[in-house]
Amino acid sequence: MNTGLFIFDTKARALKEVCAKNGFEVSIYCCGPTVYRDAHVGNLRTFLLGDLIKRTLTYSGYDSRLIQNITDVGHMAEDIAGNEIGEDKLLAQSKAEAIDPFEIARKYEANFHTDLAKLNVIPAAAYPRASETIDLMLKLIADLILSKHAYVGTDGCVYFSATSFESYGEISGNRLDSLKPGHRYDYFEDGAKHFHADWALWKAAENRTEMIWDSPWGPGFPGWHIECSAMSLELLEGNVDLHLGGIDLRFPHHENERAQSNSAVGYEVVENWVHGEHLLFEGRKMSKSAGNVVLLNDVIEKGFDPLALRLCFLENRYRSQMDLTWDSLRAADATLERWRKKLAQWQDQGDIDEQFVRDFCEGSLADIQQDLDTPRALQQLRKLEKDELISGATKLACFVSVDEIYGLEIARAPKVKAEATPEILDLLEKRKLARETKDFPASDNLRDQLLKLGISIKDSPAGQEWDWN
Ligand code: AMP
Ligand code: ZN
Repeated sequence: MNTGLFIFDTKARALKEVCAKNGFEVSIYCCGPTVYRDAHVGNLRTFLLGDLIKRTLTYSGYDSRLIQNITDVGHMAEDIAGNEIGEDKLLAQSKAEAIDPFEIARKYEANFHTDLAKLNVIPAAAYPRASETIDLMLKLIADLILSKHAYVGTDGCVYFSATSFESYGEISGNRLDSLKPGHRYDYFEDGAKHFHADWALWKAAENRTEMIWDSPWGPGFPGWHIECSAMSLELLEGNVDLHLGGIDLRFPHHENERAQSNSAVGYEVVENWVHGEHLLFEGRKMSKSAGNVVLLNDVIEKGFDPLALRLCFLENRYRSQMDLTWDSLRAADATLERWRKKLAQWQDQGDIDEQFVRDFCEGSLADIQQDLDTPRALQQLRKLEKDELISGATKLACFVSVDEIYGLEIARAPKVKAEATPEILDLLEKRKLARETKDFPASDNLRDQLLKLGISIKDSPAGQEWDWN
């Protein structure tokens, strides 16, 4: 079943039409969060990519089934030359917070769902947890050993034999012959693997006492990559029409997943590998050490609608690296507010030109079906907003319809003044005092600060009046 949606496939290095192989719904797998911390706005950009695709398919009349895993075990702290080493991220955080690792997982998993709800993300069909699908992974690993794609190393870990999968490297271009062992690899692996690019499917517990399970190879825990193979094969019945993730997952995570899944079933499991580019914040990579990790809650605390973040992402193509700034969030927040006010006014203005609405919406969908060109579609929406020849009622109908794809709740009632944040109320009070004491430079400065927060002020004999821009 063809859907008319064309997306860039990292493996084919070309646009490919999204098709539902099973003939009735598009199967989508999106790599989910590692729940040892809150998702930052970069992670959320990748998760919103899945929602945009799902909404576009729905708008075009096609069903989809989205699965997003919850990584709560096996994702190690460092990834050097494709080798995962260091401590399990969950266990490290469990130590840092002095809380049981499973409690850590449930806490951040709940926060993840809260964030998605605030961003108006349509829930996935399932959010399987790695820690609850160990049986599936054990079965898959056993099958891979039987078919000689995997072996038990001298250290008791089970490794996937990279050379057993001939087309390894086709997604990322990192072919095995060009993958040199990292200088730290030799030290860490100590010869347990047959080949430097092999990776662990099952890791022996050794001194680890938490988050371990019994297995035919002794107590241990799964590698991160096998989790996504096991869950996608099981929950999407052996066929993934679209596989999503951030660009960093291209190698080794997706390369390894492809090798595992294809080797297990003997055919190409994923039709289309889609990768979202990374998000920068104020021009820099977000990192804990740089202290510039921004969460959705930070956006909300600044007084912005969480959907302003969604609008910022839609204004940029998913395949371009994007620089998010407080200014762009502020502008998006003001745009959303302006649209909501206009929609309320357009309600009673003229008749609906049904043909125009149909053409406009088809045009928007056509843009988005071309590799998710939402910036172009939004440009058309802004043009429509300003078009004085089109009736308000027609504009309203167009906005409401295409918002099914954007998910911006454009038809929501505009903010009321009572929703001003404590920061805004404080600045308003300070400005009132500055005017009373005739400190006009201070008053102007406060006006500018308020303007940046989306507030405009009018001074009248009755005092200062404010409104959202
Ligand atoms: P993690 O929770 O680290 O496993 O990451 C969850 C998802 O977020 C993965 O698909 C990553 O590729 C993606 N991701 C991580 N950092 C960024 C970023 N700065 N911008 C966009 N996506 C990201
Ligand atoms: Zn994954």
